[in-house]
Formats: sequence, structure tokens, C-alpha cells
Amino acid sequence: YLFGEKKATDVAHLLWKHVIRKGDTVIDATCGNGNDTLAMANMVKDEQSKGCVYGMDIQEDAIKNTSSLLDVSLNPIERKCVKLFPICHSRMAEVLPKNSSVRLVAFNLGYLPGGNKTIITKSDTTKLALKAVKELLVPGGVISIVAYVGHPGGREEYETVQSFALELPIKSWVCSQIQMLNRPLAPVLVFMFKR
Ligand code: SAM
Repeated sequence: YLFGEKKATDVAHLLWKHVIRKGDTVIDATCGNGNDTLAMANMVKDEQSKGCVYGMDIQEDAIKNTSSLLDVSLNPIERKCVKLFPICHSRMAEVLPKNSSVRLVAFNLGYLPGGNKTIITKSDTTKLALKAVKELLVPGGVISIVAYVGHPGGREEYETVQSFALELPIKSWVCSQIQMLNRPLAPVLVFMFKR
């Protein structure tokens, strides 16, 4: 049931629902067309409007697409709880309020669907961003990564993610992944839970 015919991103959303609480602060490190940002906004929104999503993408087009999707999908009060930044995710700490407690940070790696396929996430900045996330995440929080191994550079980036996870101490982190063995080019889902 968990994987079945579902897309990797749908499986990631299923897990997020078990982690995110109303009123949480979460980060979408790769907004793209905004589907993940919207899913997060719907999970954190609460009556006191404490829940907040910080979204970022290096492409202005992606920020525009995300903003348009949120504008038509959320009411004005909910929309205000999502803040979008046209920056590299390695700089996320610069845009978050000081001492933020973040429950979930999601990366959906690769290129913007329907956009320029040569603008992709890169191993070195992905690694820098993961290092930044380590410091922001609250205990009980999760880093969620969808890594695509089918495009040039994708497998290398996945291996960077994998070695980052392998180096996390088992006392404070639980790392796991979901992979389709009979579809070797399907995206790999990596989860890093902070104890
Ligand atoms: N989450 C998106 C959605 O729901 O539509 C899809 C994300 S798409 C697969 C990957 C995105 O990562 C692209 O829009 C790309 O511009 C963005 N990206 C690439 N390098 C980045 C970086 N260093 N920092 C932030 N975003 C980056």
C-alpha cells in the first residue's frame, strides 16, 4: 500500500502527515511548481496562524509558479503564512527568524518540471544545505529528500545525500530510504529523523 503505484512525492507527503503538527514551522528547500509547498501549508495551518512554511528556489520562475498556486489554493490568512525566497537553499539560515524550531525540511531534487532541465540541484550546494538543516531541526524533526537518479548528475547527488546520512551519529539520528528494486531509475526517498 505504501508505495504501490503512488509517486515518490505522494509517499513523502504520507510520512509528513505523521510528523507535522498544526502550528509548526517547516521548510520547502526546492519549491519548483509549489505542490510540496502547498501540501506543507495545508498541514501546518492552524487557527492562530502560527504555522509557517519557508520556501526557496534559485529560479524566479519557480517562485512565481509556487506563489500563483498558493494564491488560488489558500485563503489570504493562510497565504500569509508561506514566505518565499528566490535563493539557494544553502542560505536558508539567513532567511529564517533567529532560533527557529523547524519540524520538517523537504528537498525534491533535480530540475523544475516543465522548466529548464539544465538548471538542477547540485551535490555541493545540496550538501551545504543539509549541513544547515542539521542545526535548525528540532528533536523529532525530519529531513525528507526525493532524489532522482535518472538524469545526469542525479546519481552522484543521491550518493552525496547517502554519505551525509551515513555520517550522522546513530545516537541522535535514524536514517532510512525507500527504493523500488524493480525500477532502478525510480526516485529514491531518503528520510533522516532527528531523535
Ligand atoms: N517541490 C517542487 C514541486 O512540488 O513542484 C519540485 C521541485 S523540482 C524537482 C527542483 C527545484 O529545485 C527546481 O525548481 C530548481 O530550480 C530548484 N533548485 C535547484 N537548485 C537549487 C538550489 N541550490 N536551491 C534551491 N532550489 C534549487
